[in-house]
Amino acid sequence: MHHTLSDRSATTIRADFVSDTVTRPDAAMFAAIAAAPLGDEQREGDPTADRLAAVVAAMTGKEAGLFMPSGTLCNLVAVAVHCRPGEALIAERSSHVVTSELGGAAVVAGALSLTLEGERGLFDIAAVDRALDALSGTRAPRARLLCAEQTHNRGGGAVWPVARLSALGAEARARGLATHLDGARLLNAVAATGEPADRHAAEWESVWIDLSKGLGCPAGAVLCGSAAFVAEADVWKRRLGGALRQSGVLAAAALQALETHPDRFAKDNALARRIAEGLAMIPGVALLHAPVESNLIFVDVAATGHTAREIATALAAEGLRIGVEGPTRARIVTHCDLTEGDADALLDALRQACS
Ligand SMILES: *Cc1c(COP(=O)(O)O)cnc(C)c1O
Repeated sequence: MHHTLSDRSATTIRADFVSDTVTRPDAAMFAAIAAAPLGDEQREGDPTADRLAAVVAAMTGKEAGLFMPSGTLCNLVAVAVHCRPGEALIAERSSHVVTSELGGAAVVAGALSLTLEGERGLFDIAAVDRALDALSGTRAPRARLLCAEQTHNRGGGAVWPVARLSALGAEARARGLATHLDGARLLNAVAATGEPADRHAAEWESVWIDLSKGLGCPAGAVLCGSAAFVAEADVWKRRLGGALRQSGVLAAAALQALETHPDRFAKDNALARRIAEGLAMIPGVALLHAPVESNLIFVDVAATGHTAREIATALAAEGLRIGVEGPTRARIVTHCDLTEGDADALLDALRQACS
């Protein structure tokens, strides 16, 4: 039955902390999907996907938006629009665009990735300047694009303060770089800072939000920027086979989530804080990337004497799933399908498993 969460062990998973992508549409979301006006995205356009694109463009303070099948495709298309083959993008070395997209920027856009090291994924213009300095001379590739992630996934969901993010974007543009903000979890950052999405994206030319993470939708993302950027992004989307047909089926889910659950990201962040506070009381469990600022928690369990896999297996027997990230590293993610009761059950089971 497709509603059963898919850990391959015999036990049914009743609370899944492995990712915020595991959320399932609820009855209200299915009702919104059933009621949505639909069209053919590749012909006359899909009215619901177009409405969602306009809503997210307004939310991020951009001229235009484009419904996309995934966040990965948003990054790829944005790099292809901003960079010509042989040009370089600059990104923090643990960025999703660098570590988790199978080199798509290189394969498809021909873009070289130059990485710099940040702190929890965050960095300042001085680090960008050092990367640019290394490119002097007639044989150096041209740096064209700066990418940043809000929140930074592998930095433990670290949140850029808006002033710092804006200063970086403005300074990058002053150096002739295009700017792209990977906003897979931008709405978690909006909840964490209390600053609306358009303030986060103000100095960044392109930005996207994911629909399949904290919003709880089955699939999709929305990529935003100037009208000229989005027109070119639409060409790349079609070229790469990313244009769908009745995409309003997916967009309707996102509109329903945006219109009815404005506080869901604050709840997800608060649940992660509750878990982090509980983890601090469990001997041998070390919180990595502290403090927890949004909905991602990374821990190292080496001091318990157990591997992360052993602990994950013990939790699975209790119907709880966490992510194994390395021999002794695990990831715990909060989302809208989890309750405080689930968080407390996780802490209880972890206390048992770690003793
Ligand atoms: C999840 C994620 C992506 C990719 O989004 P998908 O919708 O899963 O393709 C890109 N960047 C970051 C930071 C992410 O966390």
